[in-house]
Amino acid sequence: MIGVVEERLGRVTMYRLLTLGLTALAVCALVLSLTGRLFVEPLPILVSAVVAVAVSVASAWGLAAAFRTRPHTESAVITGLILLFLFWPALEARSLGTLALAALLANASKYLLAWRGRHVLNPAAAGALLAGLTGWDATTWWVADRWLLVPVLLLTLVVVVRTRRYALVGTFVVVAVLAVTLRQVVEGAAVTDALSTAFVSYPILFLGGVMLTEPLTLPPRRWQQLVEAGVVGALLAVSYHVGPLYSTPEAALVVGNLLAFAWGQRGAVRLTLTRQTRLTPRTVELAFRADRPVRYVPGQYVELTVPHPRPDARGSRRVFSVSSAPAAGELTVALTVPERASTFKRALVALPVGSRVRATGLGGDFVLPADPTRPLLLVAGGIGITPFAAQLAAAAAAGERRDVVLLYSVSDHADLAYADAARAAGARVLVLSPTPELDGLPDGWRHLGERRLSADVLTEAVPDLDQRDAYVSGPPAMVDDTRALLRRAGVRRVRTDAFSGY
Ligand SMILES: Cc1cc2nc3c(=O)[nH]c(=O)nc-3n(C[C@H](O)[C@H](O)[C@H](O)COP(=O)(O)OP(=O)(O)OC[C@H]3O[C@@H](n4cnc5c(N)ncnc54)[C@H](O)[C@@H]3O)c2cc1C
Repeated sequence: MIGVVEERLGRVTMYRLLTLGLTALAVCALVLSLTGRLFVEPLPILVSAVVAVAVSVASAWGLAAAFRTRPHTESAVITGLILLFLFWPALEARSLGTLALAALLANASKYLLAWRGRHVLNPAAAGALLAGLTGWDATTWWVADRWLLVPVLLLTLVVVVRTRRYALVGTFVVVAVLAVTLRQVVEGAAVTDALSTAFVSYPILFLGGVMLTEPLTLPPRRWQQLVEAGVVGALLAVSYHVGPLYSTPEAALVVGNLLAFAWGQRGAVRLTLTRQTRLTPRTVELAFRADRPVRYVPGQYVELTVPHPRPDARGSRRVFSVSSAPAAGELTVALTVPERASTFKRALVALPVGSRVRATGLGGDFVLPADPTRPLLLVAGGIGITPFAAQLAAAAAAGERRDVVLLYSVSDHADLAYADAARAAGARVLVLSPTPELDGLPDGWRHLGERRLSADVLTEAVPDLDQRDAYVSGPPAMVDDTRALLRRAGVRRVRTDAFSGY
């Protein structure tokens, strides 16, 4: 069930999802206000929404012209809509002026508080914090209202399922609720009252689901993200003030963003396309040269941004596992190009050699254990071979002889790729494919037959399965099914890389 929802949501960009989700939340607030449930009046909500979004979009366009870049209108709309829920909607010039200033500063922060083309702070949080320093008006986070709890919860769930950031948001919510509850209990409140206040009067779900999840301000590794979530969650319960700076939710998030930055949330890298190679009838490999050294661990992914005219709903950014070893001198990615491909993929594969694209992020936790003596089982579904290609090539380049079984499942022998990397690393390769004849398999590779992956196939082909650390990579449905199979077969450590979007 959750897999189907993930798959459906994966077909819409995060930008579109947040624009629609936040607009729906604003409509809910308006209806609740009209029916007298909210303290806020409908007209101020409407006027504030128009001011926040209009100023945000106008600033984005103005700044883009000044910095000679393309404006990102949808991102500006999201920033405006988030700010709407932070400042109390009022018709006074002072309140509307603060909101407008916050929208302007939020967009300016994307350019001015940026490191190598990537903003450092969550723009809405930065805008609200800086506008608050004027002393004209302060954020109230009126989104934390018991009548808005269910719509905010739904929006948070949608974002969490779409981004698969269960652990990040879960950690944040648990730490924030515990910290806020504890603080109130220490101050004399009953536990049940304190708990309900944490959910109803603190913007925990909104901050965690809509703002903390912003990918450009997250650190690259999962443990770092969880620490950031814990720090921001705990800070929600702490009262302090440093000069004009008070302990607000936006300040907590900004502290978390600075921590992420200190941990190496990396700037964008310019890449030049050096070649395009057809790996299989449906897969191409693109090789790039980077303007500056790119640091990554084999198994991590790169986010590519390819602006193109009239992008479809999936947008102009995509994440691909890097398929080359860091020492290779070039950075490669491989992708399946279906007959009816997205506008992004069509634009990417149409790029002539010499074209420049932006790598807007590098990260991920799909990395092999540091101890090279640990026996491994790598399970690849189709194009899911890419992170393993990087890992196997890196192991071979470092002279490591890891004990690796690669279980490679494809819909046709012709789809098998990266045989060289597997051979160089000395991996034992087992192939599952409906292609009946053995012809076409690289030397030494064993065909397990036309069967689907099952517990029987696994235990028969890899008898020491439960002694191995398993890594599974491929389309989300295949990854989920394989993880369940491996767990049932007694494998304790299973790491997964779900290629959401397929
Ligand atoms: C950590 C991670 C690593 C990844 N690594 C890789 C990798 O190494 N290689 C790789 O190829 N992918 C990888 N992916 C997946 C990648 O990011 C894309 O989501 C995936 O390739 C799908 O690309 P696409 O959206 O361009 O769709 P396409 O691949 O072009 O199309 C996929 C399907 O959707 C249909 N479709 C296309 N556009 C639309 C549309 N606008 N509306 C409706 N249907 C449409 C197509 O007809 C096709 O059936 C990774 C994802 C993650 C999260």
